[in-house]
Amino acid sequence: MYIKVLTLFPEMFAEVLSASILGRAAEKGILSVEVANIRDYSTNKHLKADDYPFGGGAGMVMMAQPVFDAVAASTPARKVYMSPRGKLLDEALIRSLAAEEELLILCGHYEGMDQRVLDYFDFEEVSIGDYVLTGGELPAMVLIDAVARMLPEALGNEQAHLEESIYSGLLEYPQYTRPAAFEYQWQTLEVPPVLAGGNHKEIHLWNYRESLALTMKVRPDLFRKYIQTVKPEDLTKEEKKILAECREAFELEDNESD
Ligand code: SAM
Repeated sequence: MYIKVLTLFPEMFAEVLSASILGRAAEKGILSVEVANIRDYSTNKHLKADDYPFGGGAGMVMMAQPVFDAVAASTPARKVYMSPRGKLLDEALIRSLAAEEELLILCGHYEGMDQRVLDYFDFEEVSIGDYVLTGGELPAMVLIDAVARMLPEALGNEQAHLEESIYSGLLEYPQYTRPAAFEYQWQTLEVPPVLAGGNHKEIHLWNYRESLALTMKVRPDLFRKYIQTVKPEDLTKEEKKILAECREAFELEDNESD
């Protein structure tokens, strides 16, 4: 997959793109990200890229000219503008972006972008959450990271992302690593005994119960969706029993809170 980013702050990307899974995806040739500086396209002698908004108001707006030329110099691709006004970046949107061969991501800064850029090139506006950040650079990195994890082979195990929170339909169960007993000051903090026991079936059922319990507590909306969509034929007898118990507890709590 090829992603081109247009930004006024290209230096913000280097560390993030070269570290960990993103760095490995680039090395393996799974993902190639090019970051271009919008200012390089400014025809202004001071390389100006922002100006005061028409009608007044606080802050500056990114000018049409450098962005038009930067977009025109890019290959045709699905175009995304990072924006708090956009559609929320969720699993479905990440999957659909990951299915593209090429993406063009435009990062706003200051008070935002001259609207003519977004209208003319028909940019799709995407938000990473209901809060406002200083610029589109961090949101673009969030998007690239989430999309890269979906690319086949990026995680080294094609199934890995399916077991993670949200993508599996449930939040992930708690994870532990060695030692089984960790001494901290006067306390001994132990991992749940079932995990240290090595019985894979019991561990799987414990994980499933923990995932259900956590999702019920923290994200009742996800839990409701899960019980409506899970296919009984995909569950073992033991899993069905655990789900029925959790569901009963959930419905009881739901009725009590009504
Ligand atoms: N004045 C704009 C508004 O009220 O919608 C906010 C501008 S914000 C300070 C500057 C830039 O940061 C935006 O143009 C956008 O590119 C990016 N940005 C800020 N919050 C974002 C979010 N939640 N998701 C995606 N991009 C965001």
